Amino acid sequence: MASVVVTGITGQDGSYLAERLIGDGWDVHAIVRDGKHADEQEITPGVTVHAGDLVDIASIRSVIDVVEPDLIVNLAGISSVAQSWSQPELTARVTGLAVSGLLAGAWDLQERLGRPVRFVQASSSEIFGAAEQRPQTETTPIAPISPYGAAKAYAHHLVGVYRGRGLFASSAILYNHESPRRPETFVTRKITRGVARIVNGDSTSLLLGNLDARRDWGWAPDYVDALVLIAEADAADTFIVATGVDHSVRDFVTAAFAAAGISDWESLVELDPRFARPVDAPIMLGDNSKIRETLGWSPTLSFEETVHAMVTHDLELLA
Ligand code: GDP
Repeated sequence: MASVVVTGITGQDGSYLAERLIGDGWDVHAIVRDGKHADEQEITPGVTVHAGDLVDIASIRSVIDVVEPDLIVNLAGISSVAQSWSQPELTARVTGLAVSGLLAGAWDLQERLGRPVRFVQASSSEIFGAAEQRPQTETTPIAPISPYGAAKAYAHHLVGVYRGRGLFASSAILYNHESPRRPETFVTRKITRGVARIVNGDSTSLLLGNLDARRDWGWAPDYVDALVLIAEADAADTFIVATGVDHSVRDFVTAAFAAAGISDWESLVELDPRFARPVDAPIMLGDNSKIRETLGWSPTLSFEETVHAMVTHDLELLA
Protein backbone atom coordinates (compact mmCIF):
# COMPACT_ATOMS: atom_id res chain seq x y z
CA MET A 1 0.00 0.00 0.00
CA ALA A 2 1.31 3.42 -0.91
CA SER A 3 1.90 5.72 2.05
CA VAL A 4 1.43 9.45 2.36
CA VAL A 5 2.37 12.03 4.98
CA VAL A 6 -0.06 14.95 5.18
CA THR A 7 0.55 18.15 7.11
CA GLY A 8 -2.39 20.36 8.08
CA ILE A 9 -4.79 17.40 8.43
CA THR A 10 -6.96 19.20 11.00
CA GLY A 11 -7.85 21.97 8.55
CA GLN A 12 -10.64 22.14 5.98
CA ASP A 13 -8.58 20.67 3.13
CA GLY A 14 -6.78 18.16 5.36
CA SER A 15 -10.03 16.61 6.51
CA TYR A 16 -11.38 16.24 2.97
CA LEU A 17 -8.03 14.95 1.70
CA ALA A 18 -7.74 12.36 4.48
CA GLU A 19 -11.22 11.03 3.68
CA ARG A 20 -10.41 10.88 -0.02
CA LEU A 21 -7.01 9.14 0.40
CA ILE A 22 -8.30 6.61 2.92
CA GLY A 23 -11.18 5.85 0.54
CA ASP A 24 -8.61 5.33 -2.23
CA GLY A 25 -6.65 2.82 -0.10
CA TRP A 26 -3.65 4.96 0.91
CA ASP A 27 -1.82 4.42 4.20
CA VAL A 28 -2.34 7.94 5.58
CA HIS A 29 -0.02 9.52 8.16
CA ALA A 30 -0.42 12.99 9.63
CA ILE A 31 1.94 15.34 11.41
CA VAL A 32 -0.05 17.01 14.18
CA ARG A 33 1.35 19.69 16.47
CA ASP A 34 -0.17 18.40 19.65
CA GLY A 35 0.07 14.74 18.77
CA LYS A 36 -0.62 13.67 22.34
CA HIS A 37 -4.09 15.16 22.20
CA ALA A 38 -4.82 13.97 18.70
CA ASP A 39 -7.77 11.93 19.90
CA GLU A 40 -9.46 15.14 21.06
CA GLN A 41 -9.11 16.73 17.65
CA GLU A 42 -11.25 15.92 14.67
CA ILE A 43 -9.01 13.63 12.70
CA THR A 44 -10.44 11.21 10.15
CA PRO A 45 -10.51 7.63 11.50
CA GLY A 46 -7.81 5.45 9.98
CA VAL A 47 -5.16 8.18 9.93
CA THR A 48 -1.93 7.42 11.84
CA VAL A 49 -1.01 10.50 13.87
CA HIS A 50 2.59 11.57 14.55
CA ALA A 51 3.57 14.42 16.86
CA GLY A 52 5.54 17.14 15.11
CA ASP A 53 5.63 20.90 14.87
CA LEU A 54 6.37 22.76 11.66
CA VAL A 55 8.46 25.31 13.56
CA ASP A 56 10.66 22.42 14.70
CA ILE A 57 12.07 21.14 11.40
CA ALA A 58 13.91 18.23 13.07
CA SER A 59 10.56 16.90 14.31
CA ILE A 60 9.06 16.90 10.80
CA ARG A 61 12.13 15.31 9.28
CA SER A 62 12.07 12.52 11.82
CA VAL A 63 8.46 11.66 10.91
CA ILE A 64 9.44 11.50 7.22
CA ASP A 65 12.40 9.26 8.07
CA VAL A 66 10.24 6.88 10.12
CA VAL A 67 7.22 6.65 7.78
CA GLU A 68 9.26 6.55 4.55
CA PRO A 69 6.28 7.85 2.53
CA ASP A 70 5.79 7.65 -1.22
CA LEU A 71 4.11 11.05 -1.12
CA ILE A 72 4.13 14.15 1.09
CA VAL A 73 1.30 16.69 0.83
CA ASN A 74 1.88 20.00 2.57
CA LEU A 75 -1.34 21.70 3.55
CA ALA A 76 -0.09 23.19 6.80
CA GLY A 77 0.45 26.85 7.39
CA ILE A 78 -1.00 29.96 8.86
CA SER A 79 -4.01 29.65 6.63
CA SER A 80 -5.45 33.10 6.76
CA VAL A 81 -4.15 36.29 5.20
CA ALA A 82 -5.83 38.25 7.99
CA GLN A 83 -3.94 36.27 10.66
CA SER A 84 -0.62 36.71 8.82
CA TRP A 85 -0.77 40.46 9.39
CA SER A 86 -0.89 39.97 13.16
CA GLN A 87 1.66 37.09 13.19
CA PRO A 88 4.14 37.77 10.36
CA GLU A 89 7.09 35.95 11.94
CA LEU A 90 5.14 32.81 12.76
CA THR A 91 3.74 32.93 9.22
CA ALA A 92 7.26 33.05 7.75
CA ARG A 93 8.32 30.04 9.79
CA VAL A 94 5.26 27.83 9.39
CA THR A 95 4.08 28.74 5.89
CA GLY A 96 7.55 29.40 4.43
CA LEU A 97 10.59 27.97 6.16
CA ALA A 98 8.98 24.66 7.17
CA VAL A 99 8.66 23.79 3.47
CA SER A 100 12.46 23.78 3.18
CA GLY A 101 12.54 21.07 5.87
CA LEU A 102 9.85 19.02 4.14
CA LEU A 103 11.57 19.25 0.74
CA ALA A 104 15.00 18.44 2.14
CA GLY A 105 13.43 15.53 4.03
CA ALA A 106 11.80 14.24 0.83
CA TRP A 107 15.04 14.62 -1.12
CA ASP A 108 17.18 12.82 1.47
CA LEU A 109 14.65 10.00 1.73
CA GLN A 110 14.61 9.58 -2.04
CA GLU A 111 18.42 9.39 -2.04
CA ARG A 112 18.49 6.92 0.85
CA LEU A 113 15.81 4.57 -0.52
CA GLY A 114 16.73 4.92 -4.20
CA ARG A 115 13.05 5.30 -5.18
CA PRO A 116 10.93 8.37 -5.95
CA VAL A 117 9.35 10.39 -3.16
CA ARG A 118 6.68 12.78 -4.39
CA PHE A 119 5.86 16.17 -2.90
CA VAL A 120 2.77 18.34 -3.43
CA GLN A 121 2.62 21.87 -2.08
CA ALA A 122 -0.64 23.73 -1.46
CA SER A 123 0.43 27.05 -2.90
CA SER A 124 -1.89 30.03 -3.08
CA SER A 125 -3.24 32.74 -5.36
CA GLU A 126 -1.88 35.19 -2.75
CA ILE A 127 1.58 34.75 -4.34
CA PHE A 128 0.31 36.92 -7.20
CA GLY A 129 -0.63 39.83 -4.91
CA ALA A 130 -2.56 42.54 -6.72
CA ALA A 131 -1.75 41.10 -10.15
CA GLU A 132 -2.65 43.33 -13.07
CA GLN A 133 -2.91 40.32 -15.35
CA ARG A 134 -6.42 38.84 -15.20
CA PRO A 135 -7.04 36.02 -15.14
CA GLN A 136 -3.72 34.91 -13.66
CA THR A 137 -1.92 31.96 -15.25
CA GLU A 138 1.01 29.78 -14.19
CA THR A 139 3.35 32.38 -15.73
CA THR A 140 1.92 35.49 -14.03
CA PRO A 141 4.72 37.27 -12.10
CA ILE A 142 4.93 36.40 -8.42
CA ALA A 143 4.51 39.64 -6.44
CA PRO A 144 2.88 39.08 -3.04
CA ILE A 145 1.34 41.89 -0.97
CA SER A 146 0.78 40.15 2.38
CA PRO A 147 3.06 38.32 4.83
CA TYR A 148 1.08 35.19 3.98
CA GLY A 149 1.65 35.69 0.25
CA ALA A 150 5.38 36.31 0.75
CA ALA A 151 5.80 33.12 2.79
CA LYS A 152 3.84 31.10 0.21
CA ALA A 153 5.95 32.66 -2.57
CA TYR A 154 9.18 31.50 -0.92
CA ALA A 155 7.77 27.99 -0.53
CA HIS A 156 6.54 28.01 -4.13
CA HIS A 157 9.97 28.96 -5.46
CA LEU A 158 11.66 26.29 -3.35
CA VAL A 159 9.34 23.62 -4.77
CA GLY A 160 10.58 24.70 -8.21
CA VAL A 161 14.19 24.51 -7.01
CA TYR A 162 13.76 20.90 -5.85
CA ARG A 163 11.88 19.97 -9.03
CA GLY A 164 14.91 21.24 -10.94
CA ARG A 165 17.10 19.07 -8.76
CA GLY A 166 15.15 15.92 -9.65
CA LEU A 167 12.40 15.60 -7.04
CA PHE A 168 8.78 15.07 -8.16
CA ALA A 169 7.74 18.34 -6.51
CA SER A 170 4.52 20.02 -7.66
CA SER A 171 2.72 23.20 -6.70
CA ALA A 172 -1.05 23.59 -6.75
CA ILE A 173 -1.79 27.32 -6.83
CA LEU A 174 -5.11 27.16 -5.03
CA TYR A 175 -7.61 29.99 -5.29
CA ASN A 176 -10.12 30.53 -2.47
CA HIS A 177 -12.06 27.35 -1.85
CA GLU A 178 -14.86 27.07 0.62
CA SER A 179 -17.13 24.58 2.38
CA PRO A 180 -19.09 24.15 5.61
CA ARG A 181 -15.72 23.20 7.18
CA ARG A 182 -14.22 26.66 6.59
CA PRO A 183 -13.53 28.54 9.82
CA GLU A 184 -15.16 31.93 10.39
CA THR A 185 -11.84 33.72 9.97
CA PHE A 186 -12.70 33.52 6.26
CA VAL A 187 -15.34 35.87 4.92
CA THR A 188 -17.49 33.17 3.28
CA ARG A 189 -18.17 31.17 6.44
CA LYS A 190 -18.47 34.35 8.47
CA ILE A 191 -21.23 35.43 6.09
CA THR A 192 -23.08 32.09 5.96
CA ARG A 193 -23.00 31.67 9.76
CA GLY A 194 -23.95 35.32 10.20
CA VAL A 195 -26.96 34.90 7.91
CA ALA A 196 -28.02 31.77 9.81
CA ARG A 197 -27.75 33.62 13.15
CA ILE A 198 -29.86 36.49 11.83
CA VAL A 199 -32.50 34.10 10.47
CA ASN A 200 -32.53 32.30 13.80
CA GLY A 201 -32.99 35.56 15.74
CA ASP A 202 -29.60 35.23 17.51
CA SER A 203 -28.15 38.35 15.93
CA THR A 204 -29.39 41.51 14.22
CA SER A 205 -26.44 42.41 12.00
CA LEU A 206 -23.34 41.17 10.20
CA LEU A 207 -20.12 43.23 10.45
CA LEU A 208 -17.85 43.12 7.41
CA GLY A 209 -14.84 44.91 5.87
CA ASN A 210 -14.27 45.39 2.14
CA LEU A 211 -17.38 44.37 0.18
CA ASP A 212 -15.85 45.28 -3.20
CA ALA A 213 -13.00 42.73 -3.16
CA ARG A 214 -13.49 40.08 -5.84
CA ARG A 215 -12.41 36.48 -5.41
CA ASP A 216 -12.51 33.27 -7.46
CA TRP A 217 -14.41 31.07 -5.00
CA GLY A 218 -14.62 27.31 -5.52
CA TRP A 219 -15.84 24.21 -3.66
CA ALA A 220 -13.11 22.77 -1.36
CA PRO A 221 -13.66 19.04 -2.15
CA ASP A 222 -13.04 19.84 -5.85
CA TYR A 223 -9.67 21.36 -4.88
CA VAL A 224 -8.75 18.25 -2.92
CA ASP A 225 -9.55 16.18 -6.02
CA ALA A 226 -7.15 18.46 -7.92
CA LEU A 227 -4.39 17.80 -5.36
CA VAL A 228 -4.80 14.05 -5.86
CA LEU A 229 -4.66 14.41 -9.66
CA ILE A 230 -1.51 16.52 -9.33
CA ALA A 231 0.08 13.97 -6.97
CA GLU A 232 -0.67 11.10 -9.37
CA ALA A 233 0.24 12.94 -12.60
CA ASP A 234 2.93 11.66 -14.99
CA ALA A 235 5.18 14.67 -14.36
CA ALA A 236 5.72 17.23 -11.61
CA ASP A 237 4.54 20.72 -12.51
CA THR A 238 2.73 23.87 -11.36
CA PHE A 239 -1.04 24.11 -11.80
CA ILE A 240 -3.53 26.85 -11.07
CA VAL A 241 -6.64 25.46 -9.40
CA ALA A 242 -9.51 27.93 -9.79
CA THR A 243 -13.03 28.18 -11.20
CA GLY A 244 -12.22 30.96 -13.67
CA VAL A 245 -15.17 33.03 -12.41
CA ASP A 246 -14.93 35.92 -9.93
CA HIS A 247 -17.52 37.44 -7.62
CA SER A 248 -17.45 40.31 -5.12
CA VAL A 249 -17.87 39.89 -1.38
CA ARG A 250 -21.13 41.81 -1.93
CA ASP A 251 -22.25 39.12 -4.44
CA PHE A 252 -21.50 36.48 -1.80
CA VAL A 253 -23.58 38.36 0.77
CA THR A 254 -26.46 38.69 -1.71
CA ALA A 255 -26.34 34.98 -2.61
CA ALA A 256 -26.14 33.92 1.05
CA PHE A 257 -29.14 36.00 2.14
CA ALA A 258 -31.04 34.83 -0.96
CA ALA A 259 -30.34 31.21 -0.02
CA ALA A 260 -32.07 31.96 3.31
CA GLY A 261 -35.01 33.67 1.57
CA ILE A 262 -33.96 37.29 2.31
CA SER A 263 -33.66 39.66 -0.65
CA ASP A 264 -33.35 43.02 1.13
CA TRP A 265 -30.21 42.72 3.26
CA GLU A 266 -28.67 46.24 3.16
CA SER A 267 -29.94 47.16 6.66
CA LEU A 268 -28.56 43.89 8.10
CA VAL A 269 -24.91 44.43 7.12
CA GLU A 270 -22.62 47.03 8.71
CA LEU A 271 -19.19 48.05 7.54
CA ASP A 272 -16.54 47.78 10.26
CA PRO A 273 -13.01 49.08 9.61
CA ARG A 274 -11.60 46.42 11.97
CA PHE A 275 -12.21 43.88 9.20
CA ALA A 276 -10.52 45.89 6.45
CA ARG A 277 -6.93 44.86 5.55
CA PRO A 278 -3.81 47.09 5.43
CA VAL A 279 -3.59 46.07 1.73
CA ASP A 280 -6.09 43.86 -0.07
CA ALA A 281 -5.94 42.46 -3.60
CA PRO A 282 -8.95 43.93 -5.42
CA ILE A 283 -9.45 40.96 -7.76
CA MET A 284 -8.14 37.40 -7.73
CA LEU A 285 -9.15 35.37 -10.76
CA GLY A 286 -7.44 32.20 -11.98
CA ASP A 287 -7.18 30.63 -15.44
CA ASN A 288 -7.67 26.88 -15.00
CA SER A 289 -6.95 25.89 -18.63
CA LYS A 290 -3.74 24.02 -17.83
CA ILE A 291 -5.17 21.65 -15.22
CA ARG A 292 -8.33 21.15 -17.29
CA GLU A 293 -6.36 20.25 -20.40
CA THR A 294 -3.47 18.33 -18.78
CA LEU A 295 -5.19 16.46 -15.98
CA GLY A 296 -8.88 16.62 -16.92
CA TRP A 297 -9.92 18.49 -13.75
CA SER A 298 -12.99 20.68 -13.63
CA PRO A 299 -15.04 22.17 -10.80
CA THR A 300 -18.30 20.34 -9.98
CA LEU A 301 -20.13 23.04 -8.00
CA SER A 302 -20.96 26.58 -9.14
CA PHE A 303 -20.64 29.70 -6.99
CA GLU A 304 -24.39 29.67 -6.24
CA GLU A 305 -24.33 25.96 -5.33
CA THR A 306 -21.34 26.47 -3.03
CA VAL A 307 -23.03 29.36 -1.20
CA HIS A 308 -26.27 27.39 -1.00
CA ALA A 309 -24.55 24.32 0.49
CA MET A 310 -22.85 26.46 3.16
CA VAL A 311 -26.00 28.40 4.13
CA THR A 312 -28.08 25.21 4.27
CA HIS A 313 -25.48 23.61 6.54
CA ASP A 314 -25.36 26.63 8.85
CA LEU A 315 -29.16 26.90 9.08
CA GLU A 316 -29.29 23.21 10.03
CA LEU A 317 -26.58 23.70 12.66
CA LEU A 318 -28.73 26.27 14.45
CA ALA A 319 -32.06 24.49 13.94
P1 GDP B 1 -8.40 35.57 1.47
O1 GDP B 1 -8.76 35.99 0.07
O2 GDP B 1 -7.55 34.35 1.51
O3 GDP B 1 -7.89 36.67 2.28
O4 GDP B 1 -9.80 35.05 2.13
P2 GDP B 1 -10.84 35.78 3.10
O5 GDP B 1 -12.09 34.96 3.04
O6 GDP B 1 -10.27 35.99 4.47
O7 GDP B 1 -11.08 37.22 2.44
C1 GDP B 1 -11.67 37.35 1.17
C2 GDP B 1 -11.98 38.83 0.91
O8 GDP B 1 -13.03 39.24 1.77
C3 GDP B 1 -10.79 39.77 1.22
O9 GDP B 1 -10.72 40.71 0.17
C4 GDP B 1 -11.22 40.47 2.51
O10 GDP B 1 -10.70 41.81 2.63
C5 GDP B 1 -12.73 40.52 2.30
N1 GDP B 1 -13.48 40.72 3.55
C6 GDP B 1 -14.45 41.66 3.75
N2 GDP B 1 -14.93 41.59 5.01
C7 GDP B 1 -14.26 40.58 5.63
C8 GDP B 1 -14.33 40.03 6.95
O11 GDP B 1 -15.11 40.45 7.78
N3 GDP B 1 -13.49 38.96 7.20
C9 GDP B 1 -12.62 38.47 6.25
N4 GDP B 1 -11.83 37.42 6.57
N5 GDP B 1 -12.51 38.99 5.01
C10 GDP B 1 -13.34 40.03 4.70
